[in-house]
Order: sequence, then structure tokens, then C-alpha cells
Amino acid sequence: MLIGPQNSAELVAAVRSRLERSAQAAGRDPGSITLIAVSKAQSAELMRRVATAGVTDFGENYLQEAIPKMAALASLGLRWHFIGGIQSNKTRAIAERFDWVHSIDRLGVARRLAEQRPFHAPPLNVCIQVALSAEERKGGVALEGLAELAAGIAVLPRLRLRGLMCVPAPQTDPQAQRATFARLRCARDALNRDGAGLDTLSMGMSADFEAAIAEGATCVRIGTALFGAR
Ligand SMILES: *Cc1c(COP(=O)(O)O)cnc(C)c1O
Repeated sequence: MLIGPQNSAELVAAVRSRLERSAQAAGRDPGSITLIAVSKAQSAELMRRVATAGVTDFGENYLQEAIPKMAALASLGLRWHFIGGIQSNKTRAIAERFDWVHSIDRLGVARRLAEQRPFHAPPLNVCIQVALSAEERKGGVALEGLAELAAGIAVLPRLRLRGLMCVPAPQTDPQAQRATFARLRCARDALNRDGAGLDTLSMGMSADFEAAIAEGATCVRIGTALFGAR
């Protein structure tokens, strides 16, 4: 599929209307759900078209790929979300350049981000990536380790712990998708009963974001449905 300016506007509108319909079906305000355009492997030019169609939040998985695109689009005032695996030697640049980090899964990385977040910048918004099944363990903390990690992050300076994120294994059955997202919501609710004050559930991608919204997603991370296949 060739994606031109017209087409980008249409794809953004289609995703927005799906988002609004699923929010309404769940009795939720669509305005309480942030659409993050996941732009890995997409050009700055195509991202500009999506931004022109009204998208303000972009998610990137790889620092080296993100840096030149951030520079090319600097005048647009976009919000940048880091959603990929974090290597320790990349934390300084992430802390300096991003507004959000969704993919923290160990305390060492959170400590480095806290130390390296510039003093003049607002606190870095962070989410903990949770592995809901054994096959996801290469990225994400297991549920058993979540409370301890959240407590460790909550006391760090210059970070603001906002919530939880997950990247579940693909499932086609909407009920199964919902059951998985419900587990992340329950984990967030359990932390909040202990006073964590988390307001963010970063869950749902192109194939399952309606199920995620039904279970309370506040950020959906959409790549393919906005940009076409990678
Ligand atoms: C690629 C990616 C997405 C978007 O996936 P699509 O299926 O293309 O919408 C969302 N979140 C993360 C962490 C990703 O790596």
C-alpha cells in the first residue's frame, strides 16, 4: 500500500473513530485515551503527515532511529514516548530526550534515568512494563516482582511513576484479549489500593486496542493501523 498525505489522514480518522466507538461502548470519555503513533521503521516524512492529521504523541523503540526523526520534527512540538527495550548505555540520551518511558522493567535502569534526567526538565513520566506470561519475560517484570519494583521507583527523584504497560503475545479472540488486559488493570488496581496513585494503563496495539480500551487502557500504541505494514 502506498501511503500518501490523503491516505494518512484517512488512516488516522479511521483509528480515531474505532477508538471513540470502543470508548463509548465502555462508557468512557474518548478524550481520556491517548493515541500514541508507533513510528518504528517509519520515515520522518510519513510521521509529519500523521502529525498533520492531529496526532501529537509518537512512540519509538530504538534510540538511534528516533534521534534524527526527533530533530527533523522538532518544530512540531510532539510528545515522545520510548517504548522499546532499554540498554543501560542508552539511558542518558533517553532521559534527555523523551517525555515518557513505558518500558522500565528493572530498578537499575530506573535509577540511571533518575540520575540522568536533566534538572531543568519536568519529571520523566514512566511506566513499568509487566510480563503477563512466561514467554514475555525477556521484556517486562513478572507480576511477582511488580510491587517491589514499583516501590523502588516511586522514591526516585525526577521520575514520576504513572502506571503499567504490557505487550502480550498476539491473540485473536477478543474475549481472550480482554482477559489478558484485565490482568494488567487488576495489577494496577492492587498497587493503587496500597497508595501508588497510578493513572496510566499503556496497553493495546493495532490488533487488540478495542479490547484494551474495554479494560481501561489510557494509552494505546498503534503502528500498523496508522502507517500501514512495516
Ligand atoms: C511495534 C509496537 C507497537 C505497535 O504495534 P502495531 O501492531 O503495529 O500497532 C506497540 N507497542 C510496542 C511496544 C511495539 O513495539
